Amino acid sequence: RNGFKKESFILSVDVGTTTIRCNVFDKGAKIRGTCSSKVVLLYPEPGLVELDPEELFNGFIAVVKGAVQDAGVKMSQIVSLGIATQRGTFTTWDRTTGRPFHNFISYQDLRAIDSVTSWNGSYTMKAVQGAMTLLYLVSRQKRFLAASVLVFSPQQVTFRLLWALTHYTQLRQAVAEDTCCFGTIDTWLLFKLTKGTFAFTLSTFQPNPFLSKMCWSGPLFSMLSLSLYLIISYNNSLLQHCCKIADQQAAMYGECCFDVGNVNITMGTGAFVDINTGSKPHTSAAGLYPVVGWKIGEEVVYLAEGNAADTGTAIKWAQGLELFSDVQETSAMAYSVADSDGVCFVPSFSGLQAPLNDPTACASFMGLTPSTNKCHLVRAILESVAFSVRQLYQTMLRETCIPVTKIRVDGGVCTNDFVMQLTTDLIGQKLARPVHHEISCRGAAFVAGLGVGMCQLQTHTC
Ligand code: ADP
Repeated sequence: RNGFKKESFILSVDVGTTTIRCNVFDKGAKIRGTCSSKVVLLYPEPGLVELDPEELFNGFIAVVKGAVQDAGVKMSQIVSLGIATQRGTFTTWDRTTGRPFHNFISYQDLRAIDSVTSWNGSYTMKAVQGAMTLLYLVSRQKRFLAASVLVFSPQQVTFRLLWALTHYTQLRQAVAEDTCCFGTIDTWLLFKLTKGTFAFTLSTFQPNPFLSKMCWSGPLFSMLSLSLYLIISYNNSLLQHCCKIADQQAAMYGECCFDVGNVNITMGTGAFVDINTGSKPHTSAAGLYPVVGWKIGEEVVYLAEGNAADTGTAIKWAQGLELFSDVQETSAMAYSVADSDGVCFVPSFSGLQAPLNDPTACASFMGLTPSTNKCHLVRAILESVAFSVRQLYQTMLRETCIPVTKIRVDGGVCTNDFVMQLTTDLIGQKLARPVHHEISCRGAAFVAGLGVGMCQLQTHTC
């Protein structure tokens, strides 16, 4: 009907924190082949989290080949590629040789925590915040209120990038000679796949509420003495036959959250709550942040997002302590006790995010007594996941004042009955588990399908 032969397929890859998954979708949005591999995280020192760029690329190629083989199709039948990736994980490399100057520095990495803390407490920040408060009092514009409580966080790329610029001589030299590329995982993969194309996806950026068009923030760059030369070129993400989209945005798109007020809650390694805010970026005083959802044609859709960094990580940590041997056991363990016996767990290995915004908060168990057993500890951890989601959800409702029109959930932790039930009770909304799995992959496949006119892909789901 649309000129596509039956045998055309879309390839979609999701580079997550724990796994890289690749699916081959047919034009009826059915998965015809699949392959996944583990993401190898490196912990060179406590608090540092890295990924080897070449190994990641090899892993990417391996899952692509595996999925195509599993589907029993030929590479030539793949008409478009969608890539969804984690955000805030970056590396730098030489434009000519393609050689990285260092490993990917993960969004979970805390190497910049000291400089973030000292910047947040600095006179410069106080002066900026004071000026913004004044402007807010005079104008009553919400964007000034949002700017008046602006603080940096170690999850943002900026301070880890400054760290890299301070510590790697070759990188500094390449910046001076204008031969340096800086990019997130999607940028690196595209550069490798195309042997030299350099393009960011808009969805890995945080839009600046003071700028009406999409561009780098000059004032922020000069405040931090970052060189704009680092960014050698910039293109829109929707390249022909290849679409790159950040993981949360891909999940929103894959869940068909196309309308204002549609919400997606992801409970994976971390928890994310996203709401579609339509054509306007949301400005937040509570620590939510606006992100570009997607740009199709000239239309940009924005999302407001809040996150709690430690969800799956807290559960995995408990597994490491041998409180249980498989995460699948945790729901039954939590149900086996009437309550947590007064034990509370604060899931803050990477500080506390919105609405508390304290990067220095440390994780803790409280209320331990001689009667506390493993099941109480596990129940307290699972409860902390549901309470974090509730806190984010309520912050989102309070701040955006947008009525929720649809709500979806995804991520590995939503297979846990106890967490799902408690989250449902706490937010007072019926939460249905996703019918389709690997939602980010699905979202990336939909957008990749749009790029080659296979718009009917999403209508099979939405
Ligand atoms: P990501 O996309 O962030 O890599 P996933 O969405 O695949 O992650 O979720 C992986 C996380 O989900 C892991 O931290 C794992 O411990 C957790 N998880 C998976 N199944 C369960 C379960 N039944 N109960 C609790 N946690 C689970």
